[in-house]
Amino acid sequence: MKAKIRNAAKFLVLALIGIAMVFSVAACEVDVPDTPDGPDLPDETGYSLVEDGISSYQIVIPENAPADISYAAKELNEFLGAATGAYLPVVTDAQASGEALISLGETSVAERLGISVSEEEDLGASGYKIETSGQTVCILSAPGGSGEGCIYGVYDFLADAVGFKVYAADEIAYEQKATVPLYDYNETADPSFDMRSIGYSILMTDQNYLRRMRLMDHYSDARWAGFGHSQVSIFLPTGTYGDHTDWYSTTKTQLCWSAGDAMETQFAENAIALLESSPEVEYLMFGQEDNQVYCNCTKCQTNLEKYGSYSGLQLVFLNHVVEKVEAWRTEHAPEREIKYVFFAYQGTIAAPVRTENGQVVPYHDDITPNEHLYAYFTPINADYSQPLENTANENDYTALQNWSKIMPGRILVYSYDINFYNYFVNFNNFNAFKAHLQTYYDYGVDYFYSQGPLWSVVPNFSEMRIFVESQLMWDISRSYDALVDEFLQAYYKDAADAMRDLYDTICMRYATYTVTTGASIGGIYSAIGTSAIWTEPVVSRMADCIERAMAAIEPLRTTDSALYTTLSNRIQRENLDVLYLQLTHYESYFSATEQAQMVEDFYYYANLFGMNANRENGSLEGLFD
Ligand SMILES: [Zn+2]
Repeated sequence: MKAKIRNAAKFLVLALIGIAMVFSVAACEVDVPDTPDGPDLPDETGYSLVEDGISSYQIVIPENAPADISYAAKELNEFLGAATGAYLPVVTDAQASGEALISLGETSVAERLGISVSEEEDLGASGYKIETSGQTVCILSAPGGSGEGCIYGVYDFLADAVGFKVYAADEIAYEQKATVPLYDYNETADPSFDMRSIGYSILMTDQNYLRRMRLMDHYSDARWAGFGHSQVSIFLPTGTYGDHTDWYSTTKTQLCWSAGDAMETQFAENAIALLESSPEVEYLMFGQEDNQVYCNCTKCQTNLEKYGSYSGLQLVFLNHVVEKVEAWRTEHAPEREIKYVFFAYQGTIAAPVRTENGQVVPYHDDITPNEHLYAYFTPINADYSQPLENTANENDYTALQNWSKIMPGRILVYSYDINFYNYFVNFNNFNAFKAHLQTYYDYGVDYFYSQGPLWSVVPNFSEMRIFVESQLMWDISRSYDALVDEFLQAYYKDAADAMRDLYDTICMRYATYTVTTGASIGGIYSAIGTSAIWTEPVVSRMADCIERAMAAIEPLRTTDSALYTTLSNRIQRENLDVLYLQLTHYESYFSATEQAQMVEDFYYYANLFGMNANRENGSLEGLFD
């Protein structure tokens, strides 16, 4: 499949229309809107799952069910019950009776009906199979796995049954229905990206929210060990091997990848110890440390000549380590399959290749990656406002292409969703997120991580980004723009139109600014908080959107005060960006009394939402002094 490339001319025209019409155009993305999940339901069986609020069904799970299967059962019961009033007994397969059964995972019920997942039905970690037989419906995930796919099978089953859909931790939609038919299923679901992860503090502190968005978290997931920058800090911590200063760079902040067999053996032994103590681990990460100060010893200098780059040095080192760990695994844990993951990042992002007879090949035979090695492609310097195919991203795109030539199908992607210098300004990737995802999909990536703010809550439409991105990772055919609309309607309700206007104002301003200045402002460290971008008329327009949003929900204050408070808080959260820009750049437009009130509002709401920083490693103290 050919990568989808944004039509640059169309984009330019759109931006120019934006200038001419001064914000009257409401469009952030120019792709064709899709059909949102509609009432595309399977045939009915004639049986009822729930009738007049009563159900004879049991939820069946295996004896000693994996935690994910138990969780799937809990979710099914909780939301089917909330929607219909019928809460079902959860029983093990030994306790199951009759035919009115919803079977989760590899139960004796599924076995008896001959419903199983075959080798060819490659469900990965998170796909599932759902099949109806008579009165019984079975939901299964990959055999022998964690059962994760059963959770998503349950969510889709609930979507058909009662219109279940999760927009945010505190915005879960379902219909109240007294009668629900049993549908006739015979299908498998295979998400576009098998492993989906988004790094936001609001997700990492709420496992229910995380799971309901169909996401995983490297930090708490039992399948992962050594996640992040681990080569020194986890596998060979400084201070532990005092006599071996030659194992590290002079600053001791990276390994010396040329240190040789004694260091590689120690590294491998520590990795083996970790695998022995963590039998569930499938992904073992050997991530370089977070800096570009690589070892420059004599051996490394010689090896640089031989292998061409630090990227090459790292791979030769990793090949040696993985060979040792795999020798242990083959003997002691032949049933386990371990993926050894390394960062292609900073000074090692370019693949160590050369061209031979028109073919891209490893720079040296020693570099040819061990078949168990996986590259975590991390384009930290990319322009996230432009597709990867754009010239602004030429280096990263070339690197991706080259990695995929020397280790096809073994690339994970670490992407970014926040500007680390501006927690109160929207990151400018609305327009290009899907294009990036599509490119990675086309290159066979099935593992995608989008890192947002890990340590602070931020405004910037966080919940919307999480919803839209997680939906796209599940199904790449969806439209970013249509998902934005769906979210805004569900989340802001009466204020949805005004909040859409706020979103469009921000998108349009970025588009106009990019076209008129040619500036690249899509980097994670780009200066996106300037008054050149956020001019007074633009910020006033944003403030007006907030005002209209608040006016739209005003009637609820008397008719539904709880909903009013919820919506007001959601709007005020986005207003923090507006207050931040007003107080930073346009203080003089407001009286001293108004300013004092704005500062008070800013801190009141920032505190209410648990925000603690204006930027990475920043704080909120004295921001407007
Ligand atoms: Zn060295």
